[in-house]
Amino acid sequence: MRPEVREKLLQIAEVFVSYLDIPNFEVLDIVLTGSLANYNWTRHSDFDIHVVTRYADLQCDDIAEAFYRAKKQIWNDAHDITVYGHEAELYVEDVNEPPVSAGVFSLKDNRWLSLPEYKQPKIATGAVNHKVQDLIVQIKHAIRAADDPEDLNRIRTKLRYMRRAGLDTGGEFSVENLAFKVLRNLGYIDKLSRAYHTQQDRELSLESQESDYKIRNTEKLDRVLVKLCKMVVQGQKDDPDYYGMVAAAVIDPDNNIVASTSSNEEGKWIHAERNAIDKYKAQYNEIPDGCIIVTTLSPCNEPMHDRAGSSCTDLINTTNIKKVYAGYTDPTQHDHDENFTIGITDNKEIESMCKRLADTFL
Ligand SMILES: [Zn+2]
Repeated sequence: MRPEVREKLLQIAEVFVSYLDIPNFEVLDIVLTGSLANYNWTRHSDFDIHVVTRYADLQCDDIAEAFYRAKKQIWNDAHDITVYGHEAELYVEDVNEPPVSAGVFSLKDNRWLSLPEYKQPKIATGAVNHKVQDLIVQIKHAIRAADDPEDLNRIRTKLRYMRRAGLDTGGEFSVENLAFKVLRNLGYIDKLSRAYHTQQDRELSLESQESDYKIRNTEKLDRVLVKLCKMVVQGQKDDPDYYGMVAAAVIDPDNNIVASTSSNEEGKWIHAERNAIDKYKAQYNEIPDGCIIVTTLSPCNEPMHDRAGSSCTDLINTTNIKKVYAGYTDPTQHDHDENFTIGITDNKEIESMCKRLADTFL
């Protein structure tokens, strides 16, 4: 084995061991096994690095296997380490249960513990093809239909479990493991990962098309609501005659946030939504597609004598904003002529905070 590869693999294993974070964890050996230590390797093979320890040393050794499996799964999912194009996968192995694979090379001692032997593998080609075709249909469907990153994550997890189960029961040449490898070589595993990450990014950002009315990242919007409540409170400290009891923000697809409270100009109230929209326009000229309004109180829609300009619903209808996320529904407003979706927070604490602000004038 090339010294620089061995060094690197040992280094990866060391980082993995420190990640495990188990006091007095004893590394009995670090071995390389799996296809790269055998005659069945391909250019897609992984470095299967097994850190050998004694499961019985872990205090609750009955859960040791599950614990190490979970830990290594988190690690392998979070890391994408390659050595000369081969991925490195890490496992914690019990010294009392050596790996099934014939070839085992000790990285620690730089010697073969057991030499690989060449056996013509028996491969159930028909069964593998059948499984691959079936999974391709499922993957394609999942990518097409996915509306949520979890839809894609379910099939990713399923594929991982399938492969692991195959390796556990039938080894390297099990139908499940081979099917997984064929899918990977055909690029389907990558496609699935890419689709998953795209979905996840969409979920985490507020990007959307004009036609998109769906409110996604409520956790993030809830955080904005909390800031808006603080803004109202601050306004009351600064100048209670000028600043009102509602705050709203425009968030654009680039995550620019422009917020404002309602304000009293010469006896007329400029509502928070109008202030936020005007302020956004003053800064960015126009409201692009895909913006959302977050407001502590749902937009008004009925005539009001002390309000400057039209209702906030009419105002928002004239823009291309399709989503409004509110902390509390104004119980005094009854028209439903909005051309946008209104979502109300599920967070009861935030809702009651927004209600308390609104109750001061409703
Ligand atoms: Zn209003």
